[in-house]
Amino acid sequence: MSESGLEGRLREKALRVTAPRLAVLAAVDEHPHADTDALARVVRSRLGSVSHQTVYDVLRVLTEVGLVRRIQPAGATARYETRVSDNHHHLVCRSCRTIVDVDCAVGHSPCLHAGDENGFEVEEAEVVYWGTCPDCSTTSSVSELPREGIR
Ligand SMILES: [Zn+2]
Ligand SMILES: [Zn+2]
Repeated sequence: MSESGLEGRLREKALRVTAPRLAVLAAVDEHPHADTDALARVVRSRLGSVSHQTVYDVLRVLTEVGLVRRIQPAGATARYETRVSDNHHHLVCRSCRTIVDVDCAVGHSPCLHAGDENGFEVEEAEVVYWGTCPDCSTTSSVSELPREGIR
């Protein structure tokens, strides 16, 4: 996504375009399902010093206007993604908390809400499929350390 494309997305939601907002939106775009810590690292690599609180605040604003979707499976930190306009769900690995997108089970509501039209805040009826990812099912070691949230 180009800078101008990201700016357009902010303007569509009547948000002032700022460097932290652009950087956070770009980071979420490039790292679906990353958590705040991982996104803060990406943003800092671009803008230099940006406080964790700033990244957190920007994520909250972007989530509120529907540009970013926040997901938080039980036992995992909150993750963010920009894939917001479809009814997709998530597969979550019980072992390493890797998160993978999976398309809506039936392809239309009432599986989930209709979408993010009219500037409404989207409150998804979120479906989480719990299981074991291919990596974890091939390594039987239970004591393995959790991996980074970015896939
Ligand atoms: Zn796993
Ligand atoms: Zn997703």
